[in-house]
Amino acid sequence: MDDIFLSDDIVAEAIKKARIAKNNAFTLNLRFPVGASVVTYTDKIYSGCSVETFISGLGTCAERSAINNAISNGEYKFKAVVVAFNRPTFPCGVCLQYISTFYQITGKDISIISIGDNDNKKISSLTQLLPEMYISTHNDALKKYS
Ligand SMILES: [Zn+2]
Repeated sequence: MDDIFLSDDIVAEAIKKARIAKNNAFTLNLRFPVGASVVTYTDKIYSGCSVETFISGLGTCAERSAINNAISNGEYKFKAVVVAFNRPTFPCGVCLQYISTFYQITGKDISIISIGDNDNKKISSLTQLLPEMYISTHNDALKKYS
């Protein structure tokens, strides 16, 4: 993670936005609201929340929601993903693999920061949490996003 620079101010703002998103989470079945935010290479922050539906498996996690928000705004390179939950919890395996697609644009690790309601924090990175991630052999498709 040597080459990732995240200022304390940016992390604090990303946590704040993830918590706001958590409060907006759409919960039905599990009733576990989760918020997330991503910090882009341009130091912009985009948030997202968990969305549940009455059909199991049809909803989406907060992390993917935040990434999709960033992508909708033309941002594809991420320094960090922040997850806000009632207790510090890292992204699920699906989200880690989703994040890994964007890791392949830069080849630089992405910080994963998880914050609980009580301000307890866990910090890791994509390559630590998913060391054997699937790497596409069709990486040329990513060049237009670098
Ligand atoms: Zn997930």
